[in-house]
Parts: sequence; C-alpha cells; structure tokens
Amino acid sequence: RLFDRELSHEIRERAALVAGLHSLVRGEGLSLHYQPIFCLKQNRIKSYEALARWNYPGKGPIPPDVFIKLAEESGLIHQLGEKILWMACQAASNWPEDVSVAVNVSPLQLKDRKFSDTIKKILDEVGLDASRLDIEITESILIDENGYKISVLNEIRRLGCRINIDDFGTGYSSLSYLWKIPFDKIKIDRSFVQALPDPTAREIIQAIVGIASIRTTTVVVEGVETSQQLDMVRNMGCAEAQGYFLGKPSPIMLVAQGQACS
Ligand code: C2E
Ligand code: CA
Ligand code: CA
Ligand code: CA
Repeated sequence: RLFDRELSHEIRERAALVAGLHSLVRGEGLSLHYQPIFCLKQNRIKSYEALARWNYPGKGPIPPDVFIKLAEESGLIHQLGEKILWMACQAASNWPEDVSVAVNVSPLQLKDRKFSDTIKKILDEVGLDASRLDIEITESILIDENGYKISVLNEIRRLGCRINIDDFGTGYSSLSYLWKIPFDKIKIDRSFVQALPDPTAREIIQAIVGIASIRTTTVVVEGVETSQQLDMVRNMGCAEAQGYFLGKPSPIMLVAQGQACS
C-alpha cells in the first residue's frame, strides 16, 4: 500500500509538471542562463551557451534535464525548443558581433523537416547573423539512424550556423558517425576533464584532439573547474574551454570580469 501511495504521488507530481509545461512553453517562468566559452588561443570569450531554467511557481527551480525530458515525452519540445531558440537569438543580437550563442537542441526537434526554416525565420526576426548561432546536439541522434536528420543538419549548416556535437565520448554510437554527421565542433564531455590528471583520461582527450584534427574540427572542453585542468587542456591543444572555473551560467552575459551587459 505504501508503494501504491508513493506511486500515485509520483503520478500526480508528474501530471502537475506536465500541466505547468503548458505555461512554460508560453514563456511563463522560463529564462535562460548564459555560460561563457573561452577561446584559449585568443584569451577571449568566443560564445555563450544558453541553458534553460524553469522557475515553477510554488515548486521552485526544476532542473533542465528533468523538464526537457518531460517536454520530449509530452510532445511539447517543439514549442519549447522554438521559444528557447528565439530567446537565445534575441539576446545574442544585442551582444558584440564577435560573440556567438550556442543553443541545445533535442534530437526530436530534428525530426521536424521544417526545423531549418524555423531557425531561418527566428534569425531574420531578431536580426542575428547565422554565423553567430551554434546548434548543439548529442551523439544520440544517431541511435535511430535517420537520413533526414542528417539532411536537416546539412540545411542548418547551409544557413551558415555551426553544429556542435555535445557530450562527446559518452554516446553509444560508433566512430563511424564522424563522417556521417556534418559538424563543426566537438565538445568533450566533462567526465573526462574531471578525471584529470588521470593518465587514461589524458590519453583519451589527446586522442579526441587527434581525431578532431583530421577534420579540422574545433575541440571544446566542458566542465573545467580548476586552473590545473585548464592548464592541462590548453597544453593538449584544445581550442576552447567552458566550466565553473572560467564562468558559471548566469542570467546576464558577463563580458569580462567585473563588466556586464544585458
Ligand atoms: P549540457 O548541454 O551538457 O550543458 C552543460 C551542463 O553542465 C549545464 O547544466 C551546466 O550548468 C553544467 N556545467 C557547466 N560547467 C560546469 C562545471 O564546470 N562543472 C559541472 N559539474 N557542471 C558544469 P544544466 O544547465 O543543468 O543543463 C543540463 C542539461 O540539460 C544540458 O547539458 C542539456 O543537455 C540540457 N539542457 C539545458 N538547457 C537546454 C535547452 O535549452 N534545450 C535542450 N534541448 N536541452 C537543454
Ligand atoms: Ca550543451
Ligand atoms: Ca555537454
Ligand atoms: Ca547533456
């Protein structure tokens, strides 16, 4: 009986969250935080990753992992994803021209064959050049290998946007996607960086940098939390880095230490 009670509690919680999602897709309680990504060669901020935040009245902040999954399961991800994309591009249109924005996109959004039209429409509406938008996807898009997802990615690149492969090294697909998926950047998952100075983690990162150089792909390291980690990844030839040591996600865009603009 205890189990039943717990289960029904869980079901009610979930139903409440799904109900709340309907207001979220209208923008209520939705905000974006921005985390800087540094170019290690030029020592400057290259872009910001937009990270969705949901402050659900009466329930507090719901983690993005939780509500994105829920939005995927309830079919609301298309509307939510479009809203997020719009907010991120709108924000970026007010930033300096050499700073881009990276937006996470669910694999389900790539099932929409008109997705690149949506991106184009948003870019035109807010007046952001396509070269300033990075689309982040995970390797999992290849789990159900569909040619049309790849053609959507190609269309997005043809607009002038870049494709980033997120959480690189954690997926279940084989290296064969390296020539099947069109992409511009690899983001090495933070689990590798956080295992440093472990020699195996070091060799794996070094190997990924080597693979990336075959395709002249930019390597971004995620989850840099210490100056030691930063020094190591810099010496390994990683081009860009992101992590709490360099800057936490924040509701405003931090241009440089002490300086901020909206
Ligand atoms: P992600 O795309 O891999 O984003 C990076 C996550 O790592 C973020 O968590 C960020 O806050 C966290 N992080 C950044 N630097 C560090 C660090 O140095 N150490 C540690 N431990 N963590 C760090 P967050 O914001 O909770 O987002 C979690 C995931 O939710 C994201 O992982 C992404 O998969 C998803 N997500 C967030 N926003 C969106 C969105 O707008 N759309 C979609 N489809 N997914 C999103
Ligand atoms: Ca990401
Ligand atoms: Ca990631
Ligand atoms: Ca992730």
